[in-house]
Parts: sequence; C-alpha cells; structure tokens
Amino acid sequence: MTTPGDATPVDNDLRRDECPVCAGPVEAVGVMHLAPAIQFSSHWIAPRRPPELWRCTRCGTAFTQYALPEPAAMSLYATGDGGARWSSRAPFERTKTREALALLRRLLRPGVRVLDVGCNTGDLLDFARGLGAVTHGVEPSDASRAAARAKGHAAVASLDAAAGPFDVVTAFDVLEHLYDVPAMLSAVGATLAPGGRLVVLTGDITCAAARGAGAGWWYVQCPEHVVFPTLRALGAVPGWEVDEAVTTFADVGHEPGLMKRALAALRGRARADLHDHMLVVLKKKG
Ligand SMILES: [Zn+2]
Repeated sequence: MTTPGDATPVDNDLRRDECPVCAGPVEAVGVMHLAPAIQFSSHWIAPRRPPELWRCTRCGTAFTQYALPEPAAMSLYATGDGGARWSSRAPFERTKTREALALLRRLLRPGVRVLDVGCNTGDLLDFARGLGAVTHGVEPSDASRAAARAKGHAAVASLDAAAGPFDVVTAFDVLEHLYDVPAMLSAVGATLAPGGRLVVLTGDITCAAARGAGAGWWYVQCPEHVVFPTLRALGAVPGWEVDEAVTTFADVGHEPGLMKRALAALRGRARADLHDHMLVVLKKKG
C-alpha cells in the first residue's frame, strides 16, 4: 500500500473516439480538476494529465476521456485491498437503501442461485444468504476474494470462471468501473438461466446533480469510474431490455438529510428528484 506522498505516476492516456456503450459520436463535457495524488482501490496514483468527461450525443452515456488503460487498472484492482477501500464494515442491510433492499428481498428467495459481480468481501452475498439464496461471487481483488471465500461464498476472479447458470446476477457499484459494458452484459447473458435477471446499481448521469456539476460531479471524479451509462443506453444494448428501473442513492450515507429534503419539498420536489443512482433490472430479450 502506498501513501499520497509516494503516489505512482500513471499514464492515463486511454482515449476513445466513440461511445463505449453504443459506438455513437461523442463530445467533450469538461475537464476534471483532481488532486495531484488520488486513490485507486487502495493504491495512491498521480495521473500525468487531467482526465476529462465526455458524453455520447446518441445515447447520453458519459465516460472518462484519458482514463487509465484497462491492463493498468486491472493490475491495481488485483493487488489492491478493495475491502479496506470499499467495505463499510456494517451489514449490507444497514448500508444500502430501502429501494435496493426491497428489490433484492423480492428476487432472492430461498434456493435462488445468485452471482454477485464485483462482490468485494461479500457484503451483498451475506445478505443474500440470509434470504436463503445460494451465493457465488466474482471479484478481481485477491484479498477481497479470499475474504469472501473465508465467509463460505464461492468466489472466482472472472465472470468466465463462474459456475452458472444463475437465476439472478447482481452488479452493485460495478458498471461504472467497466471498460466494456456490452461485453460484460454478453458474459452475464451467457450465464443467466432462462427467465433470469441482472440487477445493476450505478450512478445516474442524467440526475440533477450530475447535469449541474458536469465534469465536477463527485461521482465522475472517482478515478476508478470510467463509464456512466444512461438507462436508455442499457435498454438499447442488443439482446437486453429493461424490466424495471427505480431511482435511488448509492447507500444510506448518500441519502439526502432532513434539511435537504425540506428545502426540496419547499421547491415542490420529492425525494425521488434528489436521487443520484439508478437501480435497474435487465432481462434478456425473447
Ligand atoms: Zn452512446
């Protein structure tokens, strides 16, 4: 593990000339202004140039222009301690929002085979097992995967190695890290049982906060986040359709407090209008 003082300089030179989800035409939104040293998983890195936020003019998906190339990112994830960076240490049911918990409680009945992509140390899988589901995970961090296994969950390093078929595949706080979302959907599709569902939780680039802040939105400034698909884009990936979608928040810590909700109510806005994440259930077509 490194510290801000010995951050490793990185060549964040991955440039895309088309939308990473629909291959449509793209335009610049703005330049990100990051600290000289930033955390990537549990590593400290120093990007050589400021990343930019770009968007697709066809599907609205946004993405990081000048991101770390995928092999460099994968190496940082594999050797990083994702548990130290991202596990809340509190049970899943105390950290995730009411919308997320209600959806999972509905889908994860006893005996359901669930695969959690990006399972980290197994917080979601602990919750799923409590509901009676049979738990499998995919996790690139060696340390996190070992922690999930130690709790009795089957965990492998890549989606291709997961022993399907699965009734439900979950990907919470994962899509935004992916370099090829359509390829991930294709791999998930190959492992889903007939009638199975993919549940994703990710930031909503169309929310009011994102539209207002542009490249300055906190969520797009996370160096691990490289793509921000819109609901429209997800529903347009060949072979998939949106089964249901609800607006929510990353976790209860990101939910608006009483004061923010009161101010919003004065302006005639509901809790749902303040959201910055979306919970999307996708199913295969046909
Ligand atoms: Zn697009």
